[in-house]
Amino acid sequence: MKLESKLAQIGNRQDPATGAISLPIHHSTTYSHPKLGQSTGFDYTRTLNPTRKVLEDAIADLECGVRGFAFASGMAAVHAVLTLLRPNDHVVVSNDLYGGTYRVLEQLLKPMGISATYVDTGDLAAVERAATPSTKMLFVETPTNPMMQVSDIAACANLAKSKGWLCVVDNTFMTPYYQRPLELGADIVVHSATKYLGGHNDVLAGLVVVNTDELANQMYFIQNSIGAVLGPQDAWLLIRGMKTLALRMERHTMNASAIASWLEARDDVAKVFYPGLDGHPGKAVCARQASGFGGMVSFEVIHADMVPFVLENLQLITFAESLGGVESLMTYPARQTHADIPEEIRNQIGVNDRLIRLSVGIEHIGDLIDDLNTALDAAAEQALVGSRKSR
Ligand SMILES: *Cc1c(COP(=O)(O)O)cnc(C)c1O
Repeated sequence: MKLESKLAQIGNRQDPATGAISLPIHHSTTYSHPKLGQSTGFDYTRTLNPTRKVLEDAIADLECGVRGFAFASGMAAVHAVLTLLRPNDHVVVSNDLYGGTYRVLEQLLKPMGISATYVDTGDLAAVERAATPSTKMLFVETPTNPMMQVSDIAACANLAKSKGWLCVVDNTFMTPYYQRPLELGADIVVHSATKYLGGHNDVLAGLVVVNTDELANQMYFIQNSIGAVLGPQDAWLLIRGMKTLALRMERHTMNASAIASWLEARDDVAKVFYPGLDGHPGKAVCARQASGFGGMVSFEVIHADMVPFVLENLQLITFAESLGGVESLMTYPARQTHADIPEEIRNQIGVNDRLIRLSVGIEHIGDLIDDLNTALDAAAEQALVGSRKSR
C-alpha cells in the first residue's frame, strides 16, 4: 500500500469487538491477567498501551523500520536515543541543530561524560575530522533548523557503518511522507511529532523508529525504564492528525515554494533559505533523498531593525514558536528557539539577528503573500524612520 493509504487508515480495523473506525482511547493503566503467568499482552500502560501501540506500529511501518516508540515530546524521544550512549562516548552532531537537542547534549549529557562535536554534516570530511576513537554516534538533522542545510543521509549512514557508529536522523522537517532515512541506511529516526505529524499545534509528542531487533530491545528497555511515554489521549490526537499528513505536506510545500521565490525577488530580503530554490546548495541532494522540499522557509531581512516591525505588522501569520501546523507561524530564531546557543556559534552557522523563520501553513497562498507584503513594506518604512530618529 502507498503511504497516503496507510496514513488515512491508521487505527481502522484495530478493534474487532466493535468495528470502531476511529481507534478507541484506552485510558486503563492496568490490565487483568487471565491466569497466573498469563497476560492479554497488556499489563501496565507504561510498558504497553493498546492506543499507543497502534501509533507505534504505524510510525514503524511508515518509516520502514522494525519498531516504533512514542514519547511525551520530541525532546523525550531525542533524549531516549542519546541514552544509548555511555560515559566517555562521543557523538558528532549537525552544527545547525534544534536548540533543545543542543541543550540536552551540552547541559545534561556533557556533565555526565558524554561529549559532542558540532560540524556541518553535509561535509563528510568535516565529520571524519571531528570523530575521535570514542565516537559512537552520528546525529544528523536534514534539512536543518533554521538554516535549511542539507546532509546526504546515505553518505552519512555509509560512513557511520564503516566506522561502527550509529547513524541517527531527526526527520521532523520532512516526515516519512517525503523522506525515509532508514531506507537510506540510517539506524534510528527520531521525530518531534508535535510538528508536521501532529500538524495542528495541539499535541506534544515524540517518536523513535529503529531498524534492528537489537536496537528495538535497547530502545524498549529505555522507554519502559524512564517512562516518558506518550499518553493514550495524545496518541489518539496524533493518529488523527497523521491521517491527513499527505495532503498537508503537499500544500505546505506548494505554499513554501511560492513564498521562497517571492521573497527572493524582494529588495529588503537579503537571503532566502529553502532547499527547493535553484540557488540552494543542497537542492540536488535533497531532491535525490526526499520526494518534496517541505514547508519551512528561513530568510534574512537587510536590517535587524526591521524584524520587530515585521512581527508586529503580521495580520494572518502568527508570531509564535513551533512549526509544522496548518496555521502559518513566524519565529525569530536568534531570540527564541536558538537563544541557548552562544552568539558566536549562532553567527557562525548563520542564525544572526536578521534571520526570520517561517513555518508555512496551508492557508491560501494569495493571503499569505499579501500578509508578508504588508508586513515587510511596513517594516522597511518603520525601521528606516526609527533609525533616522535615533540618529
Ligand atoms: C521541535 C523539535 C524538536 C523537539 O520536539 P518537542 O516536541 O518540542 O519536544 C526536536 N527536533 C526538531 C527538529 C524540532 O523541530
